[in-house]
Amino acid sequence: MLDITAIPALQDNYIWAIHDGLNAVVVDPGETAPVLKFLKAHGLHLDAILCTHRHADHIGGIAGLREVYNVPVYGRRHPDNPHITNDMREGDRLELAPPGVVFDIIEVPGHLDDHIAYIAPGMVFCGDVLFGAGCGRNFEGAPALLHHSLQRLAMLPDTTRVYCAHEYTAANLRFALACEPDNPEVQQRIAATDELRKANLPTLPSTIALEKKTNPFLRCTRPEIIRTLQQRGLTGASEPGVSELGVFTALREWRNRF
Ligand code: ZN
Ligand code: FE
Repeated sequence: MLDITAIPALQDNYIWAIHDGLNAVVVDPGETAPVLKFLKAHGLHLDAILCTHRHADHIGGIAGLREVYNVPVYGRRHPDNPHITNDMREGDRLELAPPGVVFDIIEVPGHLDDHIAYIAPGMVFCGDVLFGAGCGRNFEGAPALLHHSLQRLAMLPDTTRVYCAHEYTAANLRFALACEPDNPEVQQRIAATDELRKANLPTLPSTIALEKKTNPFLRCTRPEIIRTLQQRGLTGASEPGVSELGVFTALREWRNRF
C-alpha cells in the first residue's frame, strides 16, 4: 500500500513523499530539514529523489539529503541543475521498487524547458506546470509550449490525482472566479478550499476532473471566459473567432498582474 504525503517546505511548497511504510521517494525537495524530519518520524529510508525542474525551491534540499542518503536523483539534465544522476526524457519509464511504483515520463516545457512530469496509474506529479485552479508562469519558451503541456496533462483520466508543488489554490481560485463569476463549480471549490486552509490542510492533490471544471487555463474555449476577456479588452481575445491559444496567452498575461 502506497502512501503519499505532503511535506510543507519554504513559503508554500509541497515536497511529496511516496512511501510504503519502510521506503520512500521524495519529489522536489526544496529543503533538506523537513524531509529528514519526516523520514525520521515515520521510520522511513530514502530510496530516490525525483525532480520536476531546476528551480531552487525544488532542488535546494537535494545536496543535503544526499549527504545522508546517497540515492539516485531522477530528472531532466540541465546545465543549471548539477544534481541529476539519471537523465529522464519523454517516453522513459522509471521503476522504483521499493516503494513499488512505475512512472512514465513526459516532457512538459513552458514553465521551464527542463520540466518533466511523473505519471503513474491514478496520479501525476506535475511540479509547477499545473496548479490547483491555475498554472505555472511561462518563464521559458512560447506560451504555446505551456498550453500544449497543460493540454497533455488534461488528457489524463479524470480520476488522476494531481500532485502540484505549491499551495496556490486559494489565490488561483480568486482569479478563476474573475474569469467565470457564474461557474458554480468554482464557487464550490472556493468554499471547500477555505475549509481546508482554515484547518491548515493541503488543498492537494486535486483531480484532473476538478481541474477541468474549475481551472481557467484548461477552459480556454469556454464562452464565459472569452466574454470576460473581451469585456476587459485583453489582447488576443478581441477579434472574432479568437484562437484557444490566444485566449490562453491573454489569461496567462492577465494572471501575471492580477
Ligand atoms: Zn518553478
Ligand atoms: Fe516552484
